[in-house]
Amino acid sequence: FSISFPPSSEELPAEDSLVEVTGICVNEVDTLGRVSAFRLIARSESDVRVLKTPPWWTARHAISVMGILAAGIALVMAWVLVLRRRVQNQTRVIRQKLEQEAQLKEAAEMASRAKSEFVANMSHEIRTPMNAILGFTDLLMTTPIDSEQEDYLKTIQFSSLALLRILNDILDFEKIEAGRMTLEETPFSVRNCAGRALQVIEAEAGRKGIETSFRVEQGAPDTVLGDPHRLHQVLLNLLSNALKFTERGAITLTVAVRQRTAGNVEFEFAVSDTGIGIPREAQERIFESFQQVDGSTTRKYGGTGLGLSICTRLVHIFGGKIWVESEAGVGSKFHFTAQFKIVDDTSDQLKGRDSKKEISSAAVLTLSPR
Ligand code: ADP
Repeated sequence: FSISFPPSSEELPAEDSLVEVTGICVNEVDTLGRVSAFRLIARSESDVRVLKTPPWWTARHAISVMGILAAGIALVMAWVLVLRRRVQNQTRVIRQKLEQEAQLKEAAEMASRAKSEFVANMSHEIRTPMNAILGFTDLLMTTPIDSEQEDYLKTIQFSSLALLRILNDILDFEKIEAGRMTLEETPFSVRNCAGRALQVIEAEAGRKGIETSFRVEQGAPDTVLGDPHRLHQVLLNLLSNALKFTERGAITLTVAVRQRTAGNVEFEFAVSDTGIGIPREAQERIFESFQQVDGSTTRKYGGTGLGLSICTRLVHIFGGKIWVESEAGVGSKFHFTAQFKIVDDTSDQLKGRDSKKEISSAAVLTLSPR
C-alpha cells in the first residue's frame, strides 16, 4: 500500500499523524488476477486531511532528550571532577604557603623580640652610667670652677641630657610596641601639668626671644584621674619641637574642653608655633617612627624622629587622636585629644584667666635639650 502525493505538495503530514486520504485507488494484480498491492493517488493536498497530529513526546524524542541529558550530566560530572582536582591542588598550595608564612612570621617575631630586648637592655645599661655622668657634672658645678670650666660642664650636661632623652624615647617606644605600657590612675591638675610642661621650655624660649603663652578654656574641669607623667611627656614633646623649629615669634599652649559627659571629660590640647612649618606632603608621615620632614632636619636640628610616634601611641592609649595643621614658613599647630575621669570640678575658681601665674608654684624641671 502506498500513497502518491501530487507534485505540488509542499508539506507532508508529520510522522505518526492520523490522516484521512481521499484519492484514486490503483490496484496491482498478479498473473492469476489477484490484487497484490494497491496505490492511492491523492489529487491535491486537500485529499489528505490530518485527523490527529502525533504527540511531541514520542519514544524517539524521549530517547534523544535522555541522550542529551545523559551527555550533559556526564559533562557536568567531568567538569566537577576537574574543578575538584583544581581546588585540591590550590588548597594544598595555599596550606603550604600559610605554613611557610607562619614559620617566617614566627622567625621575624623572634628576631624582632630579640632586637627589642637587646635595644631595651642596652638603653638600660647606658642609662645607668649616664645618670652618674649627670649627677657628677651637677656636683662638679657646685665646686669652685672658672667660667671656661663651667662652659665645658654645661656642654657635658646638655649632651648627656640629650642622650638620656634619646634612651628614654627608645625605651618608651619599645615598651609601647611590646604592649607593656600601662597608664597610672592618679588625681592630678590638668592646668598644673600643662603649665609645668610649658615652664620647662620657657627659659630657652626667653633666650631665643620667643614669647610663650598658656590658655585654659573658661569653665574647664581641673582635677582629673589619669597619668600626669605621660600627659606631661606628650605636651613637653610637642613644646620642645615647637621651640626647636621656631626662631622668632610665639609658642602658645591651649587647653579646651571638647566633650563633657557625666563624670568624664575630653580635652583638646594644642601647641602652636610660628616656626619653619611642615610641608603638606610630610604632615602625615612625621607621626610614623623615625620619620622627619627630610634629611636636612637631622643635620640641622638633630633628633631621632621617634618623639611624635611615641606621642601618637600615648595619645591613642589616652583614648584620643593627634593631628597637625601647618604651613611651611608660617608655623605649625599640633592638636591632640585625651579623655579623663573628672575627680573634682574646681574650674570656677580659675575661670578664664591667663593661667601662667597659676603655675608659679610648680617645680621647674631641667631644660630638655630636644
Ligand atoms: P625629632 O624631633 O626627634 O626629629 P619628632 O617625631 O618629634 O622627632 O618629629 C618628627 C619631625 O617632624 C621632625 O624631625 C620635624 O621634621 C617635624 N616637626 C615636628 N614638630 C615640628 C614643628 N613644630 N615645626 C616644624 N617641624 C616639626
